[in-house]
Amino acid sequence: MIIDVHGHYTTAPKALEDWRNRQIAGIKDPSVRPKVSELKISDDELRESIVNNQLKKMKERGSDLTIFSPRASFMAHHIGDFEVSSAWAAICNELCARVSQLFPDHFIGAAMLPQSPGVDPKTCIPELEKCVKDYGFVGINLNPDPSGGHWTSPPLSDRQWYPIYEKMVELDIPAMIHVSTSCNACFHTTGAHYLNADTTAFMQCLTSDLFKDFPTLRFLIPHGGGAVPYHWGRFRGLAQELKKPLLKEHLLHNIFFDTCVYHQPGIDLLTKVIPVDNILFASEMIGAVRGIDPETGFPYDDTKRYIEASTILTAQDKHKVYEGNARRVFPRLDAALKAKRK
Ligand SMILES: [Zn+2]
Repeated sequence: MIIDVHGHYTTAPKALEDWRNRQIAGIKDPSVRPKVSELKISDDELRESIVNNQLKKMKERGSDLTIFSPRASFMAHHIGDFEVSSAWAAICNELCARVSQLFPDHFIGAAMLPQSPGVDPKTCIPELEKCVKDYGFVGINLNPDPSGGHWTSPPLSDRQWYPIYEKMVELDIPAMIHVSTSCNACFHTTGAHYLNADTTAFMQCLTSDLFKDFPTLRFLIPHGGGAVPYHWGRFRGLAQELKKPLLKEHLLHNIFFDTCVYHQPGIDLLTKVIPVDNILFASEMIGAVRGIDPETGFPYDDTKRYIEASTILTAQDKHKVYEGNARRVFPRLDAALKAKRK
């Protein structure tokens, strides 16, 4: 089985975006703020948006199951207050839950949280619990920078985040550390802000003793870990100067990386540097990079091709990357599959 641990609902029917635009307009003028019940999307519309997009490509490329979360760049936690984020997260999560119910063999949910700059992250817990307990979601996306590129929140090691971690440990779910759209003109959303955040999150963990407090907490750092694998020597050296244990002991029981790296040399470097037990297959399809690579003739985000072509990974390694590691990092996914005798 090939599990893609990183997919977003980027193809939701247009009614969702229209509702969001009205919600944003309603921040200034409450008289135009839409009710949740005014968003109407039928099962047929949901089916169509998936069958002709993500599911079609999954079948063409040969992946079986996607961990599916709301569109990351649309989370836009910086817009409005907690109430705005809360209504928006609930709607987006419910749509992912419905997609998972319509296509139970191909999608399982991960939640966005109703984060809002300056608001205690603990306010996200009711939505998180609903998604896991009622919708059967197997993970969350945690935004380390709800300000959208201004980094006004404390680092992930700060006690402010601990209530989320306590709940994650209790429910045995990992978090993908995933920012949203950048509203800072210096940072392009998917080309800079995402990769900066991946690198930043890793360094925040490295300089702290977070995983001493939470030995079973698991973070998935997407987009191949940003700059982390490429600069592994720098990070090892910095950890040494800080008198931290070797990174393998210090971080690699708790931090994992995905394969959303869109060229063969990048995947080769990732798999050479990072232990195979810490790498999970993902494509982030349909996502930020949708074109065809003229050098290969194949889509950049068809990441399975790079794993298949790898001469570094053995057949056993590939099985870990495709399935084994995902089952270990997402125990609720493993349980859901086992319940279906998969
Ligand atoms: Zn993503």
